[in-house]
Amino acid sequence: MSRPLSDQERRKQISIRGIVGAESVAELKRGFNRHLHFTLVKDRNVATPRDYYFALAHTVRDHLVGRWIRTQQYYYEKDPKRIYYLSLEFYMGRTLQNTMINLGLQNACDEAVYQLGLDMEELEEIEEDAGLGNGGLGRLAACFLDSMATLGLAAYGYGIRYEYGIFNQKIRDGWQVEEADDWLRHGNPWEKARPEYMLPVHFYGRVEHSASGAKWIDTQVVLALPYDTPVPGYMNNTVNTMRLWSARAPNDFNLRDFNVGDYIQAVLDRNLAENISRVLYPNDNFFEGKELRLKQEYFVVAATLQDIIRRFKASKFGSTDSVRTVFDSFPDQVAIQLNDTHPAMAIPELMRIFVDIEKLPWDKAWDITKRTFAYTNHTVLPEALERWPVDLVEKLLPRHLQIIYEINQRHLDHIASLFPNDVGRLRRMSLIEEGDTKRINMAHLCIVGSHAVNGVAKIHSEIVKSQVFEDFAELEPEKFQNKTNGITPQLIAEKIGEDYVRDLSQLTKLHKFVDDDLFIREVAKVKQENKVKFALYLEKEYKVKINPSSMFDVHVKRIHEYKRQLMNCLHIITMYNRIRRDPAKLFVPRTVIIGGKAAPGYHMAKMIIKLINAVAQVVNNDPVVGSKLKVIFLENYRVSLAEKVIPATDLSEQISTAGTEASGTGNMKFMLNGALTIGTMDGANVEMAEEAGEENLFIFGMRVEDVTELDRKGYNAQLYYDRLPELKQAVDQIKSGFFSPDDPNLFNDVVLGFHPSIHPSIHPSIHPSIHPSPGLGPRCTWMMLLRHGFWPLSR
Ligand SMILES: *Cc1c(COP(=O)(O)O)cnc(C)c1O
Repeated sequence: MSRPLSDQERRKQISIRGIVGAESVAELKRGFNRHLHFTLVKDRNVATPRDYYFALAHTVRDHLVGRWIRTQQYYYEKDPKRIYYLSLEFYMGRTLQNTMINLGLQNACDEAVYQLGLDMEELEEIEEDAGLGNGGLGRLAACFLDSMATLGLAAYGYGIRYEYGIFNQKIRDGWQVEEADDWLRHGNPWEKARPEYMLPVHFYGRVEHSASGAKWIDTQVVLALPYDTPVPGYMNNTVNTMRLWSARAPNDFNLRDFNVGDYIQAVLDRNLAENISRVLYPNDNFFEGKELRLKQEYFVVAATLQDIIRRFKASKFGSTDSVRTVFDSFPDQVAIQLNDTHPAMAIPELMRIFVDIEKLPWDKAWDITKRTFAYTNHTVLPEALERWPVDLVEKLLPRHLQIIYEINQRHLDHIASLFPNDVGRLRRMSLIEEGDTKRINMAHLCIVGSHAVNGVAKIHSEIVKSQVFEDFAELEPEKFQNKTNGITPQLIAEKIGEDYVRDLSQLTKLHKFVDDDLFIREVAKVKQENKVKFALYLEKEYKVKINPSSMFDVHVKRIHEYKRQLMNCLHIITMYNRIRRDPAKLFVPRTVIIGGKAAPGYHMAKMIIKLINAVAQVVNNDPVVGSKLKVIFLENYRVSLAEKVIPATDLSEQISTAGTEASGTGNMKFMLNGALTIGTMDGANVEMAEEAGEENLFIFGMRVEDVTELDRKGYNAQLYYDRLPELKQAVDQIKSGFFSPDDPNLFNDVVLGFHPSIHPSIHPSIHPSIHPSPGLGPRCTWMMLLRHGFWPLSR
């Protein structure tokens, strides 16, 4: 793969990856040696590969510092509008290579590391992923930070510095086993603790009302310690900040009021407070409703809003009239984007600050609050919508509950004035749901408390308006918008220059190459190189051998019934049966790669992983099948593994039930890396099909309207089982223990009756059989190949 570059290639690479001057290389080597000596306190006799990684990371970091300080200084002087992205997740992955690329240091670093007798790829592999996210929602937050820095916007990401990110997935005997992600064990060279900006966050207590207003008292305090991570823009000298909060117990924790006499116990109990930032909840698209999670959500919100208001007050806009800050210009200076409802408590918290502390009248505070917040909805799945029990909120955040009730009262009064005697509407639109347990509908709170609400793909935004929040859209149609998700590209293109990195629409320049055989062959060649490289990686890390000239059919994302990995599995079984039925028939050799984590409490998702591994066991060891079909379950899918597998993919599986995947971003990453897509008309697939032409994707299955109609009629799996002999055979095999001879009943409940995720849009019986892949299948006009192999996601 590392063939020598032509002069022309070299020049083009240099323009994007930075100039390799002898001076800069020498300086990098000096920096490296200085850090090895002074920072890591090692010499080359005893240094480990990890020491070398840290020495390099610190050397690269040094190049960020000046730009970081200058960018923040510039914001302080100019006071541009600040954009605050509030998120419980930032799925950043690795930082080293992205930083080198964005600073234009990649080539010089490559050269320096080479001259030092070290291997860059090996060093890069030592970095832990910052896995502070579950999937698309968290990765989107990371991409937005990158994009906003590249656009030179005064943006900040605010979240939690989880001590443990998303668990590491091990596969043992076909089952998922979770291991703690102790990502900070060796230290994190990219973060800087800022204890001088530590802030208090209050919980529990009670509310006292008096003539001077409400007072929240007798609270328990936890401190929020900020850690800052630099976010460099692409070659523009901008370095923004991601500020993540870590929970610290105050030094008098449990010692002041009670527990006197048990000093040791009081010190041990500091853990209770510090547990708030201990671990990321590993649910994707699922609401669990645990108290600790609510604490996390309020923790990030309370610390962040104090920080935002401090910064506003320090600006020229935070003027005071005699004693009080004037907040009229607040919404012009501050935009707060809520990444889903997870940080929704920011709405009552800002009201509490304005009304109880800053003594603003309610109406004024509410006007400013609404004009400050915007809310992004990420899902319409009912099991994912946050609905916090009123009792829990009352205990943890008593003043916020009162404020939410007040917001609701005024909101319902307004509805009642517009729609007299419409009790059903009031019930549907209330922030409070009555029932067994009284709950707060956090999406309703976000809609009411924001001036803009967006979905994340055209089709999803339509569903938000027409189905899930219909009453709200009827009330304020102008509030509802669409912002289709995107990904941050960063790589190297020979044919169209590097501008597309900032402006993806320039990819259309590739149009004129669709009939250029030489270009198509070049693209196919790079794809083939990526496939070989990935196959070598699998062989090295997992001792599995795959055939790099087979079609790589890849389905990687969180394991979820709605994402239909189970349907993919039925397709695999069907292909297996076809090969066995007619072994002499020509068949396109295929390697099906499925990967993704299941939430630890999600039984069905874990059974699906086990089933895929059981099917793999049978298929991969059947001599009749030979090399025609192989099934790989890819362990521990995460950002750094996505960067390896996506560029090696021929066929991208985007097969969610129509109406369930809000956008998807995996779909885009594959397409930008020259894979063909098989998918349903769901999420952003719809817009991808529009852009590339439906003839350039393999679209199949029911549309949203078909699914709605079927749900209305009632879904009866038996019908499809009876009608489709190949489906019947596959289901019967699973049920009879064909894939689990030691435990024939193991998968009974997976196919019991059978599973609703098997919507009848099973794979088309004629599945795309393209080989070798790109260029010979349907023409994908977006299909382009990035010289270097890894996918463009913020790297
Ligand atoms: C992009 C990405 C996702 C989201 O994938 P979808 O197919 O959109 O669900 C999940 N995990 C990782 C590691 C990603 O990079």
